[in-house]
Amino acid sequence: MSGTAVVVGGGVGGLVAARRLALHGRQVVLLERSATVGGRVARGTIAGVTADTGAESFAVRGGTVRALIDDLGLRGALAEPRGSAWVALADRTVPLPAGGVLGIPGSPLAEDVRRVIDGHGAARAYADRLLPVLKVGRYERLGPLVRGRMGRRVLDRLVAPVVESVYGVDAETVPVDAIAPQLNAAITVAGSLSAAVLRLRSAAPAGSAVQGLRGGVTRLVDALLADLERLGVDVRLDAEVIGVHPAPVGPGFTVVTPREDVVADVAVIAVDGAAALDLLRDAAPDVAHLPRPEPSVSRSVLLAVDDPRLDAMPRGSGVLRASGRTDVTAVALTHVTAKWAWSADALPAGRHLLRLAYRAADLPAETRVAADAAALLGLVPTTIVDRLDTVWVDTAPPLAPETRAAHQALSAAPLPQGLAVTGSWRSGTGLASVVAGAETAARGLG
Ligand SMILES: Cc1cc2nc3c(=O)[nH]c(=O)nc-3n(C[C@H](O)[C@H](O)[C@H](O)COP(=O)(O)OP(=O)(O)OC[C@H]3O[C@@H](n4cnc5c(N)ncnc54)[C@H](O)[C@@H]3O)c2cc1C
Repeated sequence: MSGTAVVVGGGVGGLVAARRLALHGRQVVLLERSATVGGRVARGTIAGVTADTGAESFAVRGGTVRALIDDLGLRGALAEPRGSAWVALADRTVPLPAGGVLGIPGSPLAEDVRRVIDGHGAARAYADRLLPVLKVGRYERLGPLVRGRMGRRVLDRLVAPVVESVYGVDAETVPVDAIAPQLNAAITVAGSLSAAVLRLRSAAPAGSAVQGLRGGVTRLVDALLADLERLGVDVRLDAEVIGVHPAPVGPGFTVVTPREDVVADVAVIAVDGAAALDLLRDAAPDVAHLPRPEPSVSRSVLLAVDDPRLDAMPRGSGVLRASGRTDVTAVALTHVTAKWAWSADALPAGRHLLRLAYRAADLPAETRVAADAAALLGLVPTTIVDRLDTVWVDTAPPLAPETRAAHQALSAAPLPQGLAVTGSWRSGTGLASVVAGAETAARGLG
């Protein structure tokens, strides 16, 4: 295949799509609005070392990211996470049980589950095994499904902390089929929710669910960029695309930036949701004019602290906050130097990196952040050496109802030939989904 291609957006989705199109023999131009590529895979400097400020790992499911890492020669940099997560309940902080799906336990009577939901909660959760399952229809919302079958403690103490910190959505209202597409079918076959969880877990590969890269996940972006250079892709930075116009007659597109127009046979829109909908106004006006979702705004605060007591990894890889825990504002804390050995190795003895996640852009005061860290870790870190804040805006969270309506509209109304739309708002949050979606989108264009 030869011909020209333009890719709009230089996040991982756009970089992967550009690489695939170039490997297919196309001459590719990639246009990125900001001064760097990578999007939500980004780095910053704190206490003199480099740290991931956005994504810090990737899911191994599907093997797509791993295949890309192998292709890019990064296999030697793969890193396994250490420790596992804890959950901060209203009255205590305990390890999260192993082996669930979205926090839903497969074995409700297991010791590690009882430690979180107590004997009474475990007995209620076990009732799931005895309740009949829907034979007609599907469970619609996650909250009523979990609460109805396993009780409130499982929902509040196990499922909500995982769903809200990992996906940033309300566990009560999120559609089951959106967040766990295989769960309804597994319940029907297995006969209960917990048996469905065991079934899904047994189908998952052994080993960690996520991996990272020594030096940070941004190494994937560096390697992709180097490969694009090798393949002759023309990467243009500070190039915000303001229009994508299908040719009035025949194939091809004109992609407009304030400085120049780029004409190509095929185009990939790989920007975040609201920007993508804006750019679809010519190619798919019915989709572009749909109501927009509420953007999801979050802030991550990296702290460098000096405290040798943290060497013992008192809270494993980090802590998720359960809804009943009202004295803490942060939704989660990652103990970065506990989770990633390479990160600890880069720092002087006794120094640690912590990452706190907040669900709003508001600047939390130094005292608030310190109090949250102390409450979640169960100790007051002696000295805060440095702090690095990053605000993230997701303009079309993939699980929002309006985003899902846009997906349906895009599937129903075929785009002009030669145009593809990809990125996390389309394929789902996380690098595993984004890389797989971008590969599929680019392969579809040839
Ligand atoms: C704090 C945080 C932590 C995360 N942690 C993880 C994790 O540990 N593991 C994981 O798998 N995922 C994680 N994610 C999610 C993951 O980072 C994203 O799903 C993924 O990086 C999205 O890639 P993308 O290419 O779809 O979009 P983006 O990374 O948003 O890239 C879109 C690009 O398009 C550019 N752009 C926008 N508009 C225009 C325009 N008009 N013209 C030109 N360019 C434009 C933007 O500047 C940007 O570079 C995390 C995300 C955040 C915010």
